[in-house]
Amino acid sequence: MSDSPSDKPASPAHYLQTVAVQPELEIAPGFASFSPATHRGSTVVFRNLAELRAHGDGATTYWRYGLHATPTSEALCQHLALLEGARHTLLQPSGLAAISLVYFALLKSGDDVLVPHNVYGPNRDHGEWLAREFGVTVRYYDPMDAAAMAAMIRPNTRLIWMESPGSVTMEVPDSDAIVAAARAHGVLTAIDNTWSAGIYFRPFDKGIDISVQALTKYQSGGSDVLMGAVLTCDDALHDRLKRTRMLMGWGVSADDCHLVLRGLPSLPVRLAAHDRAAREVAEWLRQRPEVARVLHPALPDCPGHASWRRDFTGASGLFAIILRARYTRQQVDALVEALQLFAIGWSWGGAHSLAVPYHVQGMRPAGTWPPAGWQDAGELVRLYIGLEDTRDLIADLRQALEATLAA
Ligand SMILES: *Cc1c(COP(=O)(O)O)cnc(C)c1O
Repeated sequence: MSDSPSDKPASPAHYLQTVAVQPELEIAPGFASFSPATHRGSTVVFRNLAELRAHGDGATTYWRYGLHATPTSEALCQHLALLEGARHTLLQPSGLAAISLVYFALLKSGDDVLVPHNVYGPNRDHGEWLAREFGVTVRYYDPMDAAAMAAMIRPNTRLIWMESPGSVTMEVPDSDAIVAAARAHGVLTAIDNTWSAGIYFRPFDKGIDISVQALTKYQSGGSDVLMGAVLTCDDALHDRLKRTRMLMGWGVSADDCHLVLRGLPSLPVRLAAHDRAAREVAEWLRQRPEVARVLHPALPDCPGHASWRRDFTGASGLFAIILRARYTRQQVDALVEALQLFAIGWSWGGAHSLAVPYHVQGMRPAGTWPPAGWQDAGELVRLYIGLEDTRDLIADLRQALEATLAA
């Protein structure tokens, strides 16, 4: 034992084990960089018991436990709030966890929630689970018919979800009309604002109460981290959400915060690049004989294009195409598999282009797809345009279309 390095003083004052735990390092005092420091911590150390016991006493007790906040998570929260025009941010371990925080914080048994029928699939699953297990009623509205939605509001309706554009089918709702109806009945509104990254659509300027972001997507930009955020402007609403988050024990790691923080300085220029590229590819696809319709909010064929023009300052990289009805599901699957530069996979917001085929019937309430009057609507393919050169992406789409859907 006496030969163990642990038994030799490692410094004049302490044994090795003590130095391993308390190295008393002074790394570059006065060093400052653009990257906020990554503060890992479960234990937060108080200077004395009075500080430990002083619950919620502003400045001195702001940091209490690593689960709830560290300077690193706080840097990310403030940065996100600045970008989206919010006052408060709560970080969650995924975009879906951000959605579930809203449900858990705002609803109790007997409450009613209205959800657009084109909502992000796991949001729908979450609502249906709440309905089954916790006695919440979840009803679906047509995102393109705000008047019909308004007529569905009941005295026990507590929350109206919005998503703009809707998942997969890309309809852009008239958010002004939905918010006006919700406000008239004192109902809270929450929007899944992931597609715009909080840059191209400003929910708080529109009177929406809560914005949810899947930071997994554009904010991270690296396809390598999962995180979500719930943003608000209202202090009382934030406190309610924050209390639920603490009770649930939901938190995020400082290292993941660091990864998302790295993505934020380039977020607006990345989005602009995705926007340019996606519009170019969408315009090209629109001319193709195999394609019945391009569902890109910036193009007139997309339901809600007028709302997009009124409410958005740009479009991001995700859109969908509908192939002509004569192509079978198998042919459209083959088209997606013939793509060389588009990977097959969930999630988006990174540098790599992606493609996923969807059979929309079965994802929506019966009778809502395809919309009335869409004559030649077959299978749908969702495309995410990454940061590759669009000339290569278009050449890839051309070869795949010609190889699999040739007349
Ligand atoms: C990806 C996504 C989510 C969920 O994000 P995760 O971090 O993958 O849980 C929520 N809403 C939308 C619109 C998304 O695209």
